[in-house]
Amino acid sequence: MKLKNKNVLVYGLGDSGRSAIKLLRKHNAYVSFFDDDVHFYDYVGFERHPQEKDFDLVVVSPGVKCLHNQILEKFEKRNIPIISELDLAYLFCKGKIVAVTGTNGKTTVCMLTNKILKTAGYKTFLCGNIGLPFSAICEKTTKDSVVVCEVSSFQLEASRFFRADVACITNIKEDHLDRHENFENYRACKGKIAQHLKRNDVLVLNLDDDEAKRMILHKNCQFFSKQKLKKGVYVFKNQIFVNRKPIVSLNDIGLVGEKNLENVLASVSVCSHFKATPQNYSFALAHFAPASHRMQVLGKLDGVTFVDDSKATNVASTMACVETFKNKSIILLMGGQGKNIEYSKLFSLGFKIKQIVCFGQDGRNIDECAKKFGYESVYVQKFEQAVQFCKQKSTNGDFVLLSPACASFDEFSSFAERGERFESLIFGDKDES
Ligand code: ADP
Repeated sequence: MKLKNKNVLVYGLGDSGRSAIKLLRKHNAYVSFFDDDVHFYDYVGFERHPQEKDFDLVVVSPGVKCLHNQILEKFEKRNIPIISELDLAYLFCKGKIVAVTGTNGKTTVCMLTNKILKTAGYKTFLCGNIGLPFSAICEKTTKDSVVVCEVSSFQLEASRFFRADVACITNIKEDHLDRHENFENYRACKGKIAQHLKRNDVLVLNLDDDEAKRMILHKNCQFFSKQKLKKGVYVFKNQIFVNRKPIVSLNDIGLVGEKNLENVLASVSVCSHFKATPQNYSFALAHFAPASHRMQVLGKLDGVTFVDDSKATNVASTMACVETFKNKSIILLMGGQGKNIEYSKLFSLGFKIKQIVCFGQDGRNIDECAKKFGYESVYVQKFEQAVQFCKQKSTNGDFVLLSPACASFDEFSSFAERGERFESLIFGDKDES
């Protein structure tokens, strides 16, 4: 695609949009931009009425909702090509691409994959939803490098031709229904990861997840499972096998919980399409440090253990956390900005939970639902009060889990800020110590 002297609109000015602008300008396109956020209005290059202009190309950032978007509909009517930031970056990528999508576990799988491939000697680039936009690193790639790209449904929504050499779907549960409007739309966005795979590309699927295992959208699928399989990647006699070959012992894995085992299996499946030795796997998995705010055990205070799982922003991820600590005496902190997901999916499972403490915008809803299922639950409006309540209520041996099942934006700028506040409310500010 030629960009020189083309009139290009970048829609959405988050990190990805800004990095797309840089890339386009570098390639001598005439770039204008637009965002619904009025605070960008006075920037030079801001286009106040983009739908009235004839652009050669529109690049959409992941933050922009495409469904019923009147501006995009107007461009479509006039046959103006619309692509995603992922598509743009893909045009410049010279290396192999691993793309990981799914409702939960994407970041963990990408980090694990990155670690294994690096240990095996590959030059890798970790990018996408995890942090650096793909368009910020695409030009640094070489023929021998591997891009490990975390791909969310938001990034796939506007994608037209992005493809990966190895694509992976970790699991599909209800999430982001506020943006995609229904589960079918959400699942369809996830499925776009497979749309442009070529014959030799691989689609890695989780056989233990009811929805992911049905996404057989490509001829060349590889399955992974915690049960023994005839082929693919599986667990047998405490070992992970790739096509009947033992690759790594479960004793070498530092991560806790069944769901993290699925993440490890996903990464091993992806990496099995590259050159990595059993030693590489063992070393990488044993030395893997999980990302913050994901079932992160912060420590103990007066015999009470505090776990920061602030990244659990949907019901399925909270389920994974409760399942992981199900043999403990749990005090569960839930709440924040809801996403129209049924909380009954968690409460109907009947996990033993000593106390539920609900907070924030959707706290009342959660509290009501928990009580219907017979749980001891309380609603407190603010996060800080909720944490204080947990501190007072907890006794020796309890596990306080911040695993909110909701987004954080009603009170915080991000899940990370929420997790950090949790830690400082319990253990005090790091700077002060
Ligand atoms: P993502 O990038 O898809 O949001 P993360 O690896 O950041 O995934 O994990 C997000 C949340 O989901 C965390 O709370 C984590 O504890 C939980 N989680 C991680 N892996 C899984 C999984 N395979 N299934 C369900 N929940 C998971």
